[in-house]
Amino acid sequence: MSATPGRRNVDHLIVGAGFAGLAAAIKLDEAGERDFVVIEKDSDVGGTWHINTYPGAECDVPSQLYSYSFALNPAWSKVYSPQQEIWEYTRRVAEESGTLDRFVFDTAVLDARWDDDLQRWVVRTEGPAGVQEYAARTVVAGAGGLSEPRLPEIEGIDGFQGEIFHSARWNHDVDLAGKRIAVIGTGASAVQLVPELQQVAGHVDVYQRTPNWIIPRNEREFSSIEKAVFAKVPGAQRALRSFVYATLEARVPAFARFPVLMKAVEAQGRKNIAKGISDPALRAKVTPDYRAGCKRILISNKWYPALDADNVDLVTDPIAAVTADAIVTADGVERPIDVLVVATGFYVTEPPIARHITGRDGRTLADLWDESGMAAYKGTTFHGFPNLFQIVGPNTALGHSSMIFIIESQVRYVVEAAKAMRREGLAAVEPTQAAQDAWTAEIRRKMRPTVWQTGGCASWYLDKFGNNTTLWPGQTFTFRQHLSTFDLDRYDVEVSHEREAVNA
Ligand code: NAP
Repeated sequence: MSATPGRRNVDHLIVGAGFAGLAAAIKLDEAGERDFVVIEKDSDVGGTWHINTYPGAECDVPSQLYSYSFALNPAWSKVYSPQQEIWEYTRRVAEESGTLDRFVFDTAVLDARWDDDLQRWVVRTEGPAGVQEYAARTVVAGAGGLSEPRLPEIEGIDGFQGEIFHSARWNHDVDLAGKRIAVIGTGASAVQLVPELQQVAGHVDVYQRTPNWIIPRNEREFSSIEKAVFAKVPGAQRALRSFVYATLEARVPAFARFPVLMKAVEAQGRKNIAKGISDPALRAKVTPDYRAGCKRILISNKWYPALDADNVDLVTDPIAAVTADAIVTADGVERPIDVLVVATGFYVTEPPIARHITGRDGRTLADLWDESGMAAYKGTTFHGFPNLFQIVGPNTALGHSSMIFIIESQVRYVVEAAKAMRREGLAAVEPTQAAQDAWTAEIRRKMRPTVWQTGGCASWYLDKFGNNTTLWPGQTFTFRQHLSTFDLDRYDVEVSHEREAVNA
């Protein structure tokens, strides 16, 4: 193909240097697919674990499972790893992989457009050196489902004169000691950060729209003996990892087929409330009225005691407006604040990256998804978007186990696809519409009896059509089985135009 000045040809362009992009880079490299770039808008690897630095940020999946299978870490300090430790782990894995020379940091993807003549993706990026154009055989999108903060649309919020920031964009320059702080949201992030704020703030108002089911967190530090055993006997750590994996998978039937079993979780949640909160009125406010599991089940030993503290108020009246220095609720009460922390989650079912990816017929992924919701073949590839692979795509997220298991399954599929394309001399592969529709129909069928669909709550798992387009509705090993080989027979394929001409 003729080169356009300034445009750089690469085999693979990977978007994002979090767990997904990093695994894709490492595994493509190992497979001999060394001509790639990783475009990362942040200044380092680690993705969500580099960006989310709010106080108290920790993983709620046990550390033994929250790591790559190919890079176990015997040095985890605790059963649930803190953010900094996970980030340092990703950094170390990246350094040891020898792939960092192909990472481009502080650079955003502006757009990616499939070019039928080139049989490549033309991708424009913008970073410190300006705008760069790439022509890539494949795009591997690993931008993460929980990366774009969702800011609440509340009257007057733009006119707030105090400090305001999202949980995923923590402003460490703000001194919180003695301050009056409001936190909007009571999800996984808020549950971790509010107990930390309670310790330093003068007063904290927590604005709750919907309570969550929250069960105790089985926390403890690994002893030096355990860590020595993990380091010297990798089999021991693998055995523990397998045990954790099996324990989490054993919960799937309750989520996916028999939600009534979730009553056991609700009993644990009620006990946790009773242990942490003495005031019956406050207990009632924090007790959910929907089936556990419908929203993500949270784990914390600190949340209820924090809400019970003298310097914390839980506000359940809806927010009417934000003024220059206060929040006003629908009952007319005005609560003055110095700092507003917005812990309102992320754009999950309308990921912004979809607006920047334009397929074969000139439409963006967002255009298609706006009409009928997110859909993919095997959560990874898209009809109309040749050679596009999304890690953590539609219906791949989990409510019960480690996303790294899913990420590794998808990365294997991408590597198998790259190998198949090279072996068969293919320039483009794209799942057939029939294959994608059949996959989506099967997901919808499996989703129907699950707690996420029947549990009686609103959640970020559901899109505007009421469909759960985010979660995988089953055991993770079945997902891995589905993606264990690249099933070329479900794909429309093209050889290169040069080869077509020779054969003609
Ligand atoms: P989230 O779970 O989506 O929670 C957002 C919170 O903000 C909810 O309480 C929501 O209320 C509330 N909210 C949203 N818009 C609002 C509005 N306009 N007015 C008032 N309240 C509003 O977000 P998150 O806590 O950042 O967590 C997102 C996901 O990230 C988690 O589910 C988890 O997968 C992941 N995460 C994991 C960890 C971990 O591993 N430890 C930590 C943090 C996050 P409603 O419930 O009524 O919508």
